[in-house]
Amino acid sequence: MTDQQAEWAAKGIDVTRPSIARAYDVVLNGRDNFEVDRAFVAEVVKVVPELYDVATYNRQVLGRGVRYLAAQGVRQFLDLGSGLPTVENTHQAAQAVAPDARVVYVDVDPIVRAHGLGLLAENDRTTLVTADIREPEKVLADPEVTALIDLDRPVAVMMIGILHHLADADDPQGLVGRYLDAVPSGSHLFVTHFCDAGPEAREAEQKFLALLGSGRFRTAEEITAYFDGLDLVEPGVVPLPLWRPDGPVADDLTVGHRLMYGGIARKP
Ligand code: SAM
Repeated sequence: MTDQQAEWAAKGIDVTRPSIARAYDVVLNGRDNFEVDRAFVAEVVKVVPELYDVATYNRQVLGRGVRYLAAQGVRQFLDLGSGLPTVENTHQAAQAVAPDARVVYVDVDPIVRAHGLGLLAENDRTTLVTADIREPEKVLADPEVTALIDLDRPVAVMMIGILHHLADADDPQGLVGRYLDAVPSGSHLFVTHFCDAGPEAREAEQKFLALLGSGRFRTAEEITAYFDGLDLVEPGVVPLPLWRPDGPVADDLTVGHRLMYGGIARKP
């Protein structure tokens, strides 16, 4: 065990199995990960060599989506399953457009708060809460959440790269509905999600489920159903590189391009 692993193990962090947050950190070329996380990623890369690109597409669309929402006047962002801090985090994208934007990050993994609070030290409009998003009523009543988010005003409910880590038994669609029920008209839902984009996706799903314990690659129809009852913003639910790209996109989409779908919708 390295010194860093020993330090984390002493904080109660399981360093013997890959974690979602640290594996994602691997594919974003971060430094907060261990051999066990890198070994897991290496297994999936055997099936989807473009996996690192997929993570980049996800971060890029996060930035584009948050800037879009801020430009629409959204000033409150609830980033559920926010992950370890990386480049252009939600508060940086939102506050670049609207300095008064408020952002609450929520992640179940304590490592996220341990590493994220430093980044937020001088930002009184952003905070980070350790909680399980499968308990929406608890999350929404958390004093750190209510200190920044006024549930009587529109909120961007962000579920970026997180719903696919919930099992079917967790009823992810019902969960989305519980968050949307708690926010007023003019709120938005922003989702990105692993997609069943072909045989490679199904093989990747097997690896995720066997080695990480989560990772459902749902169909485009299933992902679109999360937005039922909302007004989808153009271009709808699409492969991430096609969601309001900043520049031209290749005509022939690869498996990596199609491995995640996403979209934004407004609550009428
Ligand atoms: N949203 C970020 C992004 O897309 O760049 C990070 C996505 S990362 C793949 C998923 C994050 O969700 C991880 O940090 C993990 O710890 C967190 N997570 C998984 N299950 C969760 C749960 N039930 N409640 C809260 N966070 C969860």
